Amino acid sequence: MDLRERIAGLMGRVRPELAELVAIRSVADPRQFPPEECARAARWVRDAFAAVGFSDAWLAEMPDGSQAVLGSRQCPDPDAATVLLYAHYDVQPPLNEADWRTPPFELTEVAGRWYGRGSADCKGNILAHLTALRALGDEVPVNLKLVVEGSEETTGALEGFVPGHADLLRADAILVCDAGNAAVGQPAVTVSLRGVVDVIVGVEALASELHSGLFGGAAPDALAALVAMLATLRDARGNTTIPGLDNTQVWQGAPYLPETFRADAGVLEGVSLLGDGTVSDMVWSRPAVTIVGIDCPPVVGSAPAITPRASARLNLRVPPGTQPDKAAEALVSHLRAVAPWGVHVKADIEAPGSAFQARTGGPAYQAIAAAMHEAYGRPMVMLGDGGSIPLCNVFADTYPDAELILMGVEEPLALIHSPNESVDPSEIAAMALTEALFLQRYAAARR
Ligand SMILES: [Zn+2]
Repeated sequence: MDLRERIAGLMGRVRPELAELVAIRSVADPRQFPPEECARAARWVRDAFAAVGFSDAWLAEMPDGSQAVLGSRQCPDPDAATVLLYAHYDVQPPLNEADWRTPPFELTEVAGRWYGRGSADCKGNILAHLTALRALGDEVPVNLKLVVEGSEETTGALEGFVPGHADLLRADAILVCDAGNAAVGQPAVTVSLRGVVDVIVGVEALASELHSGLFGGAAPDALAALVAMLATLRDARGNTTIPGLDNTQVWQGAPYLPETFRADAGVLEGVSLLGDGTVSDMVWSRPAVTIVGIDCPPVVGSAPAITPRASARLNLRVPPGTQPDKAAEALVSHLRAVAPWGVHVKADIEAPGSAFQARTGGPAYQAIAAAMHEAYGRPMVMLGDGGSIPLCNVFADTYPDAELILMGVEEPLALIHSPNESVDPSEIAAMALTEALFLQRYAAARR
């Protein structure tokens, strides 16, 4: 029986097992769900991987008290390469349960998709790993290491654990299975992630509130000053315009089609997309600043008074090649330069997260491209992601020679982090087949 048939035969186990795992409410926040739920999920994952050859599978305590499932599996060939398999078993909270069309912790099939919190992010990927290994049975031609963490959606404690325990997870290739294709059936790896930094800017102009009738017109208004400053962060077409930050870079991989983007983002009719570049340029290759919060008097309860001080939190995303801390400094100097009327400006730069760019020329990338092509029947493309995964930077810094591959079952219809999260079972099967073929091809390429 070939691998594809074996995986088709194994899919009957995937649904009840994913249902078991989804039923465990492993939200890693003791204020919302009992920690015992995460502990149960950790044991479930440990036992499942122990049954596919990770005989030493164990629970490692992380700095935040969460548990990561670690393990290894040796291959008899002493020269075999080592592959690290990554996933996480914690999930986002369900948010408003009334927004779910099916119960969030009960895996439910609707029109061929399986709905439930974590069905895609990331429990579907855990089942893809397990199914790949079950299909290969005793014929896994590489050494394997495993880490399935339990606080990816909250504290990201594994990031702090890896550098101090580098040997435990050291590998030649790392499959970070917490991403997805651009669409069902269209194989892709994510090779670029933007960096991120938040800046809080405060403006002060007056000692206190002033009557807007008695003083308005001549008194400097801190909120008006802040609004004027924030308005300079984009030009009329929506490009982010911060002197010193290149906003002309062009995405070289697969395009993000504007129609798809409009639908994914829920852009209202008649409202334009922003920027002079393509959608892929704008979200994967260029900086973007978003005003995420403003402190000023709320409408209800506001008085006819001039606001003496106001502040805003700005979220700045930068493409690979730009240091987020340098970008934040450029943003702050720009805000100071454009502040009107001599108002006092104060700025705080919060902890930055670096951008990530995968090295795609090595044997693991060749093997994954061939495996995806065979599994899906069409060539693999390379995508970017406008968000950040700090763990990728930790892996890249700790294992500079390792090849990092970001893939998984979380395509856009999965609506990860939202109500009505779901997974397409055909993606679990195809990703499992991809992984099994990858392990064979990578081993062959390294011999
Ligand atoms: Zn995830």
